Amino acid sequence: MKRTAQLGGGTPGRSRTAGRARSGTPPNATTAGMAALTPTWRSTAPRRLRDAMGRFATGVTVITTADEGEGVHGMTANGVLSVSLDPPLVLVSLGRCRMAEILPRTGRYGISVLAADQQDVAMHFAGQGHRTTAPAFTWDGGLPFLPGALAHIGCRVADVHPAGDHVLWIGRVKHMTHRDGDPLLFYAGRFTGLA
Ligand SMILES: Cc1cc2nc3c(=O)[nH]c(=O)nc-3n(C[C@H](O)[C@H](O)[C@H](O)COP(=O)(O)OP(=O)(O)OC[C@H]3O[C@@H](n4cnc5c(N)ncnc54)[C@H](O)[C@@H]3O)c2cc1C
Repeated sequence: MKRTAQLGGGTPGRSRTAGRARSGTPPNATTAGMAALTPTWRSTAPRRLRDAMGRFATGVTVITTADEGEGVHGMTANGVLSVSLDPPLVLVSLGRCRMAEILPRTGRYGISVLAADQQDVAMHFAGQGHRTTAPAFTWDGGLPFLPGALAHIGCRVADVHPAGDHVLWIGRVKHMTHRDGDPLLFYAGRFTGLA
């Protein structure tokens, strides 16, 4: 895969020890579970989990919703998963963010799967972009989506599961469209693409 810009801020990145194999076995791990782990292992676990799971390459999406009072809101997310084909369910994993405050009101969200040439869109909706023009939206089934995306998936929120410091928003798919093209990918804290 080819490498492009690395993100800063709160996005997954490479650790100083990236490239060296790192042990995934916690010191002093016993059948007693997490309580037996050392304080150091526990305090470094979030960073190391980001680094480890950052090696799981993903696509990049923009989640959108529309609120009567506030209009369209969008955010970049790669914590997106196909959960079930019948019934058709997907999930989006959200941390503390504005989207998570708006979704209980709208009860619906759209997933735009970004194409290789939409890195600037991903940066913008992650709050890290420098767009000079406001992004346009296209509407389908009453939900806004990003034009130029490879797929549009519209969902009604069917279930909500708090999970640690995130919440899993399970959506029942109401409509979907897709086209062929190269995807935008995210790997080890960087946007990239197919080789
Ligand atoms: C590759 C990647 C994957 C990520 N995956 C996840 C994930 O799975 N889960 C997670 O919780 N976080 C994820 N994030 C982080 C997340 O994108 C940011 O924390 C984001 O800022 C959260 O958005 P928000 O809802 O809090 O809204 P804001 O931070 O308020 O909005 C995000 C940005 O979108 C712009 N924006 C929103 N609506 C509009 C509009 N209608 N018109 C124009 N601009 C608009 C805002 O101006 C802002 O710049 C990811 C970030 C990256 C880079």
